[in-house]
Amino acid sequence: LPAEFQAAKPVLDTIEAAGYEAYFVGGCVRDTILGKPLHDVDIATSAFPAEVKGLFKRTVDTGIEHGTVMILDHGNGYETTTFRTESGYQDFRRPDTVTFVRSLKEDLKRRDFTINALAMKPNGEVIDLFDGLADLKAGVLRAVGVAEDRFHEDALRMMRAVRFASQLDFDIEPATLQAITDNAALLSKIAVERTRVEWEKLLTGQKPVRGLQALLATELYRYMPLMADQKPALEQLVALPAWQLPTVESVWTLLAWLRQAPQPANVRQLLKAWKTSNELIDHVTAAVRALSALKCAGQLTSRECFDVGLAALTTANQVATILGFGQPQSHLDAAYAALPIHNKHELAINGGDLLKRQLVTPGPAMGRVLAACLDAVITGKVKNESTLLLDFARMVADSKNN
Ligand code: ATP
Ligand code: MG
Repeated sequence: LPAEFQAAKPVLDTIEAAGYEAYFVGGCVRDTILGKPLHDVDIATSAFPAEVKGLFKRTVDTGIEHGTVMILDHGNGYETTTFRTESGYQDFRRPDTVTFVRSLKEDLKRRDFTINALAMKPNGEVIDLFDGLADLKAGVLRAVGVAEDRFHEDALRMMRAVRFASQLDFDIEPATLQAITDNAALLSKIAVERTRVEWEKLLTGQKPVRGLQALLATELYRYMPLMADQKPALEQLVALPAWQLPTVESVWTLLAWLRQAPQPANVRQLLKAWKTSNELIDHVTAAVRALSALKCAGQLTSRECFDVGLAALTTANQVATILGFGQPQSHLDAAYAALPIHNKHELAINGGDLLKRQLVTPGPAMGRVLAACLDAVITGKVKNESTLLLDFARMVADSKNN
């Protein structure tokens, strides 16, 4: 057992000692068998939520209406979910009702893919009711039960399939792939934020091309925000020599770049449609600007370096490297380090200094003069020293007045 399971074992033992069943389930069992690092340990139990809460001193109701209780144990939190069945799914995304049951099999049946429907006893014994082990070994994603029905119940599962294809370097078996093709349009029922999580995981996965090929083959991409006309961009991605995207920022920078006109307004429109944070929008807008400079000039001016900042510059270079016009990162680090200042607050004079010497009156003129000073320092025309800058400011202010 991996260390995470060892640490959680006393929790399962406590539940079992009280006469209930308790298992590790889902992604953590899959990843343990694959020898991959775990990010979360999920527990499933026949005990009902109130029964779980009665067994432990410290619990948190993280999703009690779905049967999930977090058990706090020695500084760790374990999401523990009562066996349940789901029914209804009239909106193609979530069940109308969930029912708590005492049967592990019923619980495993509602899970998406056979490789995610494995359970493990606290003693390490694997419970494999849907031949998930064989699929895991063969590298196959197969819906549990009738694929068509499963994607009708929850259309997000189609995105999860292509995401796992990329993350695990797995094949989607033919009937499951066909069901995605037949039901792709249902993806538009799913909240953009949930689709986005899967899309980002696909593109940061170990074999993104595998996920993208499935996305193209099933035409699932047509139902993703602002992607319907992006077949050429996706095909370009598939054709690039082996690549890997390290961050979500690099994902969106590359996607924005491959669109027809990566102007700031279009970048913003794309990311707004995907409901990303404003912080990400700013980062990607800056990175796309840097990418243009790297592509056209092979380097950035000091003004561009200053405006873009080191983080977005690094993202841009990661993407440029994939596209074949990257630079050694050390060159960019050095160019950035060589900037006279890295932040406008480092300017040796401020608005107050200008007013004190009556070089400007408060208002837009002041902003203009300060901007001119900042630019002069960044571009190396004037040293960042207050006496030199005040002389320069006087000159700028005079020329504006005439
Ligand atoms: P990850 O490595 O991203 O955490 P995961 O398989 O653990 O992958 P989770 O979203 O953490 O994914 O879900 C845990 C488990 O819950 C899954 O392994 C699967 O058994 C089940 N599950 C999650 N989402 C769905 C879904 N949309 N439909 C059916 N079962 C699901
Ligand atoms: Mg998980």
